[in-house]
Amino acid sequence: MQMTNMPEFHKHIKRVVISEEEIKEAVTKAGEILSLEYKDKPLLLVTILKGAFIFLADLSRAITIPHEIGFMAAKSYFESTESSGNVEITLDLAQDISKYNVVIVEDIIDTGRTLSKVREYLESKNPLSLKIVTLLDKPERRLVKLQSDYALFTIPDYFVIGYGLDYGEYYRNLPCIAEFEEDK
Ligand code: 5GP
Repeated sequence: MQMTNMPEFHKHIKRVVISEEEIKEAVTKAGEILSLEYKDKPLLLVTILKGAFIFLADLSRAITIPHEIGFMAAKSYFESTESSGNVEITLDLAQDISKYNVVIVEDIIDTGRTLSKVREYLESKNPLSLKIVTLLDKPERRLVKLQSDYALFTIPDYFVIGYGLDYGEYYRNLPCIAEFEEDK
């Protein structure tokens, strides 16, 4: 089969930043913390598609208490480096979140603009509580005041791929997090 747009696999990997084992260990720990914190409470994990789909799948299995999952999709419209802007919710949750403690499960917080708008939107629906868990945090890049409640890893300002994170829709299936290598 001819796949003309398929990048040569591994061509864009500069180096492994976080190994599969390190991710596994951190996700297990996050699962334990959330299981204790939300014991006997209605818990809903909310993911904004698509980057966090693998993190969500692993985190959900690391959580040992009953919980539900929900998916959202959002489109952002921002003018260059402006921090104000609009976010259109293109896929909304099926659940009435006023009955849940909501934990947003994010892949990476970069400028923070999209997530800050989505958080505002979810807060307006009056959940019992609202927290943010992110796999990766790039605090140097932040353009709005937004902090996660729990970041598994903090990284400097470089573009990463793998474990759900893409470059042109590829590399999401890499088991580790790698620094992206530009085309030469
Ligand atoms: P922001 O925080 O700027 O609103 O946007 C965050 C989104 O940008 C993430 O959910 C992710 O999809 C994308 N993003 C930000 N930094 C990176 C990165 O280093 N690698 C990849 N693959 N996506 C990124």
